[in-house]
Amino acid sequence: RNHRSHIECRGDINRLNAHFLEIYESLIPPEEEKEKQKQLMALLNKHVTNEWPKAQLFLYGSCANSFGFRKSDIDVCLAMGDADVDKSEILLKLADILKSDNLENVQALTRARVPIVKLMDPITGISCDICVNNMLAVVNTKLLLDYSKIDVRLRQLAFIVKHWAKSRGVNETYQGTLSSYAYVLMCIHFLQQRTPSILPCLQGMEVTYKVNVDNVECCYFDQVEKLQGFGSRNGESIAQLVWAFFNYWAYCHDYTNDVISIRMGSLISKREKDWTRRIGNDRHLICIEDPFEVSHDLGRVVDKRSIRVLREEFERAAEILQYDPNPCVKLFEPY
Ligand code: ATP
Ligand code: MG
Repeated sequence: RNHRSHIECRGDINRLNAHFLEIYESLIPPEEEKEKQKQLMALLNKHVTNEWPKAQLFLYGSCANSFGFRKSDIDVCLAMGDADVDKSEILLKLADILKSDNLENVQALTRARVPIVKLMDPITGISCDICVNNMLAVVNTKLLLDYSKIDVRLRQLAFIVKHWAKSRGVNETYQGTLSSYAYVLMCIHFLQQRTPSILPCLQGMEVTYKVNVDNVECCYFDQVEKLQGFGSRNGESIAQLVWAFFNYWAYCHDYTNDVISIRMGSLISKREKDWTRRIGNDRHLICIEDPFEVSHDLGRVVDKRSIRVLREEFERAAEILQYDPNPCVKLFEPY
């Protein structure tokens, strides 16, 4: 491994730009989907404030972080304002209320790792998961959205990477591969690391946004409209970036020693985080630090078997992008 860290990109890489942009455009949700989401949120809001006047609903995840594909489900967080609530009790109550309206397939999953109510709205056709008091997810959603506003290449790259991961079956946390959230963090880190950098490190700048959630200080520079043009000194095209992203994860990343950290805007060492040993089920075979819950490794789901699957897929993608005459077909071939 690592034997090709300085390989040069194929000369005709920019031939792929139009293909990647076409795929990206085809996955972006149309405006009318946003309208339907608002409609469903208004309906849910009505029920929630009726029962719990102080509670608030927030969208989070891909429907709100700008990295969602068309026809995605939506993720909603019910913020109770009181941290000490019995989540199961609230979810069961919520399910009862929503069943009595004409929402379909309403189910409370109170034993899940993140307990939720699931439902389908027959009017808009949207499916939705509602969790309780998961405000860190709401805040990391805002961070991802803010990063996406700085340079359009982040959204383009993340769409291609997510589309590849879904096509190749490596976006399944229950099978030991990575979440969409983890892939977006990998893309942000990658663009922070280009020279010249395409993204800044928002958590390393002047603090303009600050919240305390579950005893975690979340603060960063969120006036991203002032950062327009930040990445323009770097002229790399989307095709070059996709190539370099997979080349990095296939041949350049040091899986033994390094942790990627968008909080620091750089690599940090496993040693300084004490992530060098297996503790319980945390094996730290690929290390992706959560920007706010810094003891949380998004690679914790990855095990001995799935790290091989992942690395083989990174290498497959890198090889295709380097040598295949028609990479855009091969890259997204169903596994
Ligand atoms: P998809 O388009 O695949 O549904 P998604 O952006 O909704 O993508 P998920 O991985 O389903 O991604 O996660 C939804 C949201 O939940 C993320 O945007 C993030 O805010 C939060 N989240 C998910 N996993 C974690 C985690 N391990 N730690 C902290 N927050 C997480
Ligand atoms: Mg989701």
